[in-house]
Amino acid sequence: MPTLFTKIISREIPAKIVYENDHVLAFEDIHPQAPHHVLIIPKIEISTLNDLTRENASYIGEMMLAAKEIASKLGMSSKGYRVVMNCNEDGGQTVFHIHMHLLGGRAMHWPPG
Ligand code: 5GP
Repeated sequence: MPTLFTKIISREIPAKIVYENDHVLAFEDIHPQAPHHVLIIPKIEISTLNDLTRENASYIGEMMLAAKEIASKLGMSSKGYRVVMNCNEDGGQTVFHIHMHLLGGRAMHWPPG
């Protein structure tokens, strides 16, 4: 089912876009949890990580490559950053179009809450 992220891809809903190619789109999270908080999404609808298959799994590689590139542009490569994907209720997923959270600009804690 289309979500608000599909509407961000089609520009029906505005977002601060920081990166785009044929496979992925990345934009600033509306409620940032770190000085840099970017969401990276595939340009196809995959609801949750449970819906990943051999046929669509290459999007995960594209999302990771985008994360690496955006982190570099934001000057986070050497100090570091975190990439997170939430799945379903216990994972804290609220938008059902898979996405990576790229977080950086401060030290992250482990274990997460
Ligand atoms: P999840 O909880 O599903 O892992 O992450 C969804 C993320 O989407 C949240 O961090 C939330 O702040 C962000 N978000 C929700 N609605 C919008 C929106 O309309 N625009 C943007 N840029 N981010 C959103």
